[in-house]
Amino acid sequence: MSSPAALPTSMNAVICHGPENYELQEVAVPRPGPGEALIKVEAVGICASDLKCYHGAAKFWGDDTRPAWAETEVIPGHEFVGKVVELDAAAAERWGIAVGDRVVSEQIVPCWKCRYCLRGQYWMCAPHDMFGFKRRTPGAMAEYMLYSADALVHKVSPDLPPAHAAFAEPLACSLHAVERANIQFEDVVVVAGCGPIGLGMIAGAKAKSPALVIGLDVAPEKLALARECGADLTINVAEEDVVAKVKELTDGYGADVYIEGTGHPSAVAQGLNLLRKLGTYVEYSVFGSDVTVDWSIISDDKELDVLGAHLGPNCWPAAIRMIESGILPMDKICTHQLPLADFQKGLDLVSSGKESVKVSLIP
Ligand SMILES: [Zn+2]
Ligand SMILES: [Zn+2]
Repeated sequence: MSSPAALPTSMNAVICHGPENYELQEVAVPRPGPGEALIKVEAVGICASDLKCYHGAAKFWGDDTRPAWAETEVIPGHEFVGKVVELDAAAAERWGIAVGDRVVSEQIVPCWKCRYCLRGQYWMCAPHDMFGFKRRTPGAMAEYMLYSADALVHKVSPDLPPAHAAFAEPLACSLHAVERANIQFEDVVVVAGCGPIGLGMIAGAKAKSPALVIGLDVAPEKLALARECGADLTINVAEEDVVAKVKELTDGYGADVYIEGTGHPSAVAQGLNLLRKLGTYVEYSVFGSDVTVDWSIISDDKELDVLGAHLGPNCWPAAIRMIESGILPMDKICTHQLPLADFQKGLDLVSSGKESVKVSLIP
């Protein structure tokens, strides 16, 4: 396969050499192998998990109880959209795409061989190669990237701004957490955290039409955005006693469902305390440190269902439809778009968390 005439041989890319050691470097533009697609990256979101990886969290770099999962000398970036530049007939047929199409790929590149993949539980694939964390799957903080033959690729409307289209990844994750919660029509649902993930959880929970969707955060402007995304009610946890307020709203029983998307250890105890007996707790966050709670609330006190959620399996089409439908205030969610060279500024913006919601790089 010959390369398109206009294609450069080198490109700028962010390279992760290890925690707090990321550099913008000139590297070769990758060449697609059999069944792969070469993509010109249009936008890549910076995720809270990118920041935790940057700061060296144990989940990525290991500790006494687990080996490192992330690898060095990898281009980060797992929330992305781009245009197809080059692909062979096998890739075009597998994904139903052509040169010029705008496409996202799911962040996980399943092996399709392990027990989980063979059972359809591809998002928990044992080797767990994700774009932006492994050498086999370089990410999108670069001008070009490859969609591996094992990737799951979806078309997106060319009419969306690139940063909005790249929001399909975090939104799919939010929607999966909502699916895990198994929301019923009479439920009072509390979503903790009104960042990019929490806002998507609120939109997803609202789409299930429960009795009440309540958003929690400490920033008034994020609470306002939560109401635009579908929260019936918001509570500022810095100003109000959330547990008392939720009990007041539920005849003293507590909420039916709590979906945690803050990553703050204090939000865990808060959720256990504001749930009713036999309630459902969904944990989505990646924590930077251990969390300590009294587990007897889960057993003896309330007999709770505590569920984890990871990635956005089978939720990508719904996330893309939701973004394309225009029901979300995407201009207000995608607050910052920076050039690739400003990746450090982007990480800092996500780190401070105050002035930004979703920060994206535009390579
Ligand atoms: Zn992410
Ligand atoms: Zn697998």
